[in-house]
Amino acid sequence: MRILVVEDEVKMAGLLHRGLTEDGHVVDVAGSGDDAVWMGQAVEYDAIVLDLMLPGVDGVGVCRRWRENGVWSPVLMLTARNSVDDRVAGLDAGADDYLAKPFSFAELLARLRALARRGATERPVGLEVGELRLDPATRQVWRGEAEITLSGKEFALLETFMRRPGDVLSRVYLLEHAWDYAYENRSNVVDVYVRYLREKIDRPFGRSSLETARGVGYRLRRDADGASR
Ligand code: CA
Repeated sequence: MRILVVEDEVKMAGLLHRGLTEDGHVVDVAGSGDDAVWMGQAVEYDAIVLDLMLPGVDGVGVCRRWRENGVWSPVLMLTARNSVDDRVAGLDAGADDYLAKPFSFAELLARLRALARRGATERPVGLEVGELRLDPATRQVWRGEAEITLSGKEFALLETFMRRPGDVLSRVYLLEHAWDYAYENRSNVVDVYVRYLREKIDRPFGRSSLETARGVGYRLRRDADGASR
């Protein structure tokens, strides 16, 4: 594998470089966030080991920039021990896995092998359908540049639609993915919430992206557009 190691501490970077090379990999080292952003875009790495603590742009910022720029190499983030916030920030920025320092080298190698098996397929952090965008981590939604405020249930319903753009989703499917089992009154709740959603994501913008498939369910148009009726 061709692996990029991003680590500013010289001793740690040397250790990783030596260990990975001995395991038969081709290894490049970036000593700063800025170098890492550039190198990750210049070469399609099979896997990247990214330290969170870097001077300048930190690991979270580096990872976010890669993903924004279409770099999908699998990223293993190295974080401080016991820092849940760091792990959450890393994963939400698009990292695929994390390992807390200090770590065992055998585990690092195993995790890199597991990540490389998945390959560099697109795994965007946010969802995009036409001009609709949704960020599951920050729970924000936009149409174009305009941010839209949704209730928790409206958000869950829109996210369900945005994960299956263009598909007709039945009321049962929508209930299963946006409501929990505790929900009792299932009669027309989906229809009610689709109406709420239309009032927020479509009507103010003169669009009708949420279409009714009569007798079946609803569909979010793949272009999230559609002239208003
Ligand atoms: Ca560091």
